[in-house]
Amino acid sequence: MKVGAMIETMNQSTSGSPSAFQLLFDARLNKGAAFSESEREQFGLVGLIPDGIESMDIQLDRARLQFEQQSSDLGKYQFLSALQDRQERLFYSLLRSDFQRYMPIVYTPTVGEACQKFGHIMRRPKGMYLSMNRRGKLAQVLRNWPVKDVRFIVVTDGERILGLGDQGVCGMGIPIGKLALYTACAGVPPQVALPVVLDMGTNNEGFRNDPLYPGLRVPRIGGEEYLSFIDEFVAAVQEVFPRCCIQFEDFTNKNAIPLLERYRDKVCCFNDDIQGTASVAVAGLFGACRMNATKMSDQRILFMGAGSAAVGIADLFVKQLCGDGMSEAQAIERCWFVNSRGMVHAGMPKLPDYLQRYAHDVSGLKFPAGAPSGLDSPLTRLSDVVEVVRPTAIIGVSTVAHAFNETVVRAMARMNARPIIFPLSNPTSKSECTAEEAIRWSEGRAIIATGSPFPPMHFGGKLFVPGQGNNVYIYPAVGMAVFATEANRVTDEMFLRAAESLASQTTDQDLSVGLIYPPISSIYETSIEVAIAVAALIFDQGLARVPRPADIAEFVRERVYDPAF
Ligand code: NAD
Repeated sequence: MKVGAMIETMNQSTSGSPSAFQLLFDARLNKGAAFSESEREQFGLVGLIPDGIESMDIQLDRARLQFEQQSSDLGKYQFLSALQDRQERLFYSLLRSDFQRYMPIVYTPTVGEACQKFGHIMRRPKGMYLSMNRRGKLAQVLRNWPVKDVRFIVVTDGERILGLGDQGVCGMGIPIGKLALYTACAGVPPQVALPVVLDMGTNNEGFRNDPLYPGLRVPRIGGEEYLSFIDEFVAAVQEVFPRCCIQFEDFTNKNAIPLLERYRDKVCCFNDDIQGTASVAVAGLFGACRMNATKMSDQRILFMGAGSAAVGIADLFVKQLCGDGMSEAQAIERCWFVNSRGMVHAGMPKLPDYLQRYAHDVSGLKFPAGAPSGLDSPLTRLSDVVEVVRPTAIIGVSTVAHAFNETVVRAMARMNARPIIFPLSNPTSKSECTAEEAIRWSEGRAIIATGSPFPPMHFGGKLFVPGQGNNVYIYPAVGMAVFATEANRVTDEMFLRAAESLASQTTDQDLSVGLIYPPISSIYETSIEVAIAVAALIFDQGLARVPRPADIAEFVRERVYDPAF
């Protein structure tokens, strides 16, 4: 039956008030059995829901019960996704009631599995799929979104989802999850958020051969064709949603940095993999400095991985050191990299532009006897690079599981009283080491931040709580600040301010159990403080599109989404 005919049949056969069904089937409006007696009378809801009037707490209890009944994490993910479709306020209240429990399901690590199986588990659409078949009409397609004042788009092309490679349009799980955390963690109203995936084909053969894959089954486009599609998308967003901030997410490193450079000074946008990661890692370094009583300027960092996350962290660290008075050349000398070909150095062929300034001259260095070399690098084994560079910190953003092996961690512990070890790769299966390994091999001295969550542990009779260097401490809060102030640009200074504010909220008690970030359980309060600090900077930088209020804290708090019934 054609849609028009279906609507007509529905209208003829519906005898009750249509608004009652709108209330019950619109996730934003639906309160389930929490509608009051007068609302039930007014909207014709009597008899459509059980007579008992329920509080949010009762509904939360039922949601928790149903959540725990799911036997797998993917099942739990699907349950939460359905709850978001059914009762948005209950969904956000549930997330806020226990971040530690729900965040690893809504986002990493479970969202990785959800993306890999997205074509099989997808139910209702939650965002927009902009395919290259719609070239020339993207603005028109964006107008199909029912909300007219979108303020946040998280967009991916699905080519590098977490550490899982090309997931095509199944990467949609990432924008959906990220935007849910904007609301849950920092109070950005959900109605202003729009998840977007750009379908430019996929090079994932498995997906192209899977009849349930929902995207275009063609190889990815590249080069000028790719760029002009992204240009059209960015321009279409400016035209249709002029107050919107675009967050680029999970693009491959060959595209992520160039795209950020292309648009950052022209439109309101940022890349969380680069700038959000950088901010949370720098906040972790601030915390580590407090824990081992050193200064930022004392640190020498060796990055395992030289992609967008690594370079983003290095660039922000350099900016911080320069702000502290160090020359840029000296600050750059504090950063060393290992990529898939070995230690990055001045003679390494085919280095991307963004890495050139970190390619040091190593001709004067003495290498360990017998250390393996490669075609493009004099050192290919991480443990040898550690011996040469003698870093105070190693940061893993390579997606190489077990790269921080026992030899590497023990070498770090030999060189440093409190070695800083951040295995940041996601998901858990790609982590450079586990938190337990870093603690055990360093005899309890490592200062750690991990990308994926690891449980607390005991070592030598002492409790260790691994901090999760999760961007979720940063981007929702920066987003809330941008939303409240209607900022027209997102700057690196905002991410440094966010890092400082986050680090300043870590208490001495947190530090005493090895936690270099405030606990995830208090992320909502933490994020609001970060948002207030960043909003103040936005006003100071003259980037706000609203007048500066007398009380910035109150101004931000007034704009926060409250999921209460
Ligand atoms: P990317 O693809 O841009 O970079 C990956 C880098 O790893 C490349 O430079 C590549 O050369 C290098 N690499 C690959 N194999 C290697 C090997 N065998 N030895 C050494 N280097 C190797 O990806 P990215 O955006 O930089 O992200 C990398 C990882 O960091 C991902 O797992 C991502 O999930 C994680 N990440 C974590 C956080 C966080 O926890 N806050 C934030 C962003 C990214």
